[in-house]
Amino acid sequence: MNQDLPASYPWIARLISIPTESGSSNLPLIEELEQAFGEHGLEGVRTYSEDGTRANLFVTVPASDGKVTGGIVISGHTDVVPVAGQDWDSDPFEATVRGTRLYGRGACDMKAYLGVAMHLLPELIALRAAGTLRVPVHFAFSYDEEIGCVGAPSMIHEFSARGIHPEFCVVGEPSSMRVISAHKGAHRGRVSFTGIAKHGSLAPHGVNATVPAAEFSVFLNDLANSWAAEGPFDSDFVVPHSTGGVNYLRAGVQYNIVAERAELEYDFRTLPSVSTESVLETLDAELFGPITQRFNAAAARAEQLAEAPAGSLVERLEIKHELLARVPGLKTADDAPLVLLAQHWLNNAAAPEKVTYGTEAGQFQQAGVQSIICGPGDIAQAHTPNEWIELEQIRACEDFIRQIFMWASTTVERSDTQA
Ligand SMILES: [Zn+2]
Repeated sequence: MNQDLPASYPWIARLISIPTESGSSNLPLIEELEQAFGEHGLEGVRTYSEDGTRANLFVTVPASDGKVTGGIVISGHTDVVPVAGQDWDSDPFEATVRGTRLYGRGACDMKAYLGVAMHLLPELIALRAAGTLRVPVHFAFSYDEEIGCVGAPSMIHEFSARGIHPEFCVVGEPSSMRVISAHKGAHRGRVSFTGIAKHGSLAPHGVNATVPAAEFSVFLNDLANSWAAEGPFDSDFVVPHSTGGVNYLRAGVQYNIVAERAELEYDFRTLPSVSTESVLETLDAELFGPITQRFNAAAARAEQLAEAPAGSLVERLEIKHELLARVPGLKTADDAPLVLLAQHWLNNAAAPEKVTYGTEAGQFQQAGVQSIICGPGDIAQAHTPNEWIELEQIRACEDFIRQIFMWASTTVERSDTQA
């Protein structure tokens, strides 16, 4: 069976063997990548998470003439989703081949793509050494993608600040090697409310934090219902409108204590035509408008009942709103140069598709980099126990990335080979 393994298998297996669950350190994996680039005299730039335990890595292979701006980004996340509570038939952090499939955490999402890119790096270096690399090729490895594309923005900011402005970016999320040109925006926010605890029998003397939390939840649900009823619509998406809701809410201690604390987390997914800012403005207006007013009014009433100084209870209230993840929607035109190129590289002119999940492609696009998603494996197998990828998908990806490298070089692009 071994002779049938894709050539990039050793690299993929090596990456799978380094556990990089989101939120845990990915530095051993980053070091592994750095070492491989270092062998070719290339040094990347790390950008770290706040606590320094995770890092993005951005490495530029300059064009043969030394140019570092323009060109194309090969982009992928280094983190994987947790395996806790999942029933695996084999060690998730050991690549295992059974039949025509490779199993392991990250096999499809998305260490296969990263492994293929690393495997082909020497070919790119050879093009550069031959003097034919026309534009630079950049490698962007991010952390914490799986918890809301948290890592990539600082990496994008960093290379932009250095004057590197890539023309294109291919994010290798599993797409069964189909071109995806659009996805929804994805956002995660947290709101916490602090009221004033009292014995339940003295309810009017307290301020119940569950009330504004519930009001916010209903408000967001109404907003989502209005999107469903009035649009905007894009029928190319499975759910053809923006969506949202409060999906986590925790409040209070027990039934007879006026709840002092409530905390919720919400999610909203926007069509590419709906900006993050427009939704945030609506949420903020409601939170810092009517909901806050009613919350404060409850405290003012309690002050009167207790004959407390005006404002003494109101000032103890708190509403805190944090946006924890923001991924803008991706919308690359069906006839954009990168889409046409990718169709050529794949030797497949199928129309690009749209997906509901958010990716870093939206963040690259926001930075002015024309972006698509195209990667090996089926998103249906991502995040599941016994995550797997068809070996054939890995081979197709090898051919695809090789085509990208050929495009980046002055060598005539191959259009006659297809894995
Ligand atoms: Zn992914």
